[in-house]
Amino acid sequence: MRADGRDPIREAARLLTERRNAVALTGAGISVESGIPSFRGAQGLWAKYDPMEYATLHSFMQHPRKVWEMLSEMVSVCGGATPNAAHKGLASLEEKGVVRSVITQNVDGLHQAAGSRRVIEYHGNLDELICVYCWRRFQTRDRWTPGDVPLCDCGEILKPNVVLFGEPIPWLPQEQAEEEARTCGVLVVIGTSAQVSPACDIPRIAKESGAAVVEINPEDTSLSGNVTDIHLRGSASEVLQRLLQTIFT
Ligand code: NAD
Ligand code: ZN
Repeated sequence: MRADGRDPIREAARLLTERRNAVALTGAGISVESGIPSFRGAQGLWAKYDPMEYATLHSFMQHPRKVWEMLSEMVSVCGGATPNAAHKGLASLEEKGVVRSVITQNVDGLHQAAGSRRVIEYHGNLDELICVYCWRRFQTRDRWTPGDVPLCDCGEILKPNVVLFGEPIPWLPQEQAEEEARTCGVLVVIGTSAQVSPACDIPRIAKESGAAVVEINPEDTSLSGNVTDIHLRGSASEVLQRLLQTIFT
């Protein structure tokens, strides 16, 4: 409950049910409770591997074997993870017609595993590998084994088909995400620090097109207090469960 006596969960639930055309924008924070470390958190992968050294296209082109040390860990962690209550909550909001799509910056495939059907993968998915020399694509499970560096038929080292720093967003997900942002009534932003460009522009596009912006994050972000209309503080699973209860009871 806020100082003015209004319950932000109830306000968000009211907006979602009245407008019924919400879109979710998710980031690494929604998968933290599935055991996948976020990007900027103190612990985990990124404390060990500086993303500017390991997650750029430039470093992949220069030292693919070194970058695969980090990628191997990421593929293993994501491959072993299962959806949590927040992924499942979003899938059930879609099934019930409250949320119409999910734009995700994540590359772990957990929204689809939870049952979400309209998922726009803004940064790709670790499930697929691509050769940046001959453009052949492969399923990761067909080419990669832990501790190994996956090779293309042409002999070059394959890259996960995800957007590394320094790579453009593929045209289709970028167009789809902007269209969703321009036409939604509510944008629910979950577990993103909104610091990675151009994904961080999506909330502003939605807001300027008339949507209300609801943020679910235990911390303040660059959106809080300016783009965000309602900030629901807490973990994604806890807040989404409370939101579902409020909407459907
Ligand atoms: P980020 O790491 O920059 O920010 C994570 C945000 O999640 C923070 O604001 C944090 O306060 C919040 N958070 C932490 N725990 C949470 C919880 N339990 N519930 C809700 N929120 C929580 O993440 P980002 O903004 O998504 O940027 C990271 C980039 O790195 C993305 O573009 C993504 O492609 C990539 N990445 C993906 C994964 C994945 O696929 N799961 C994991 C790490 C990084
Ligand atoms: Zn090749």
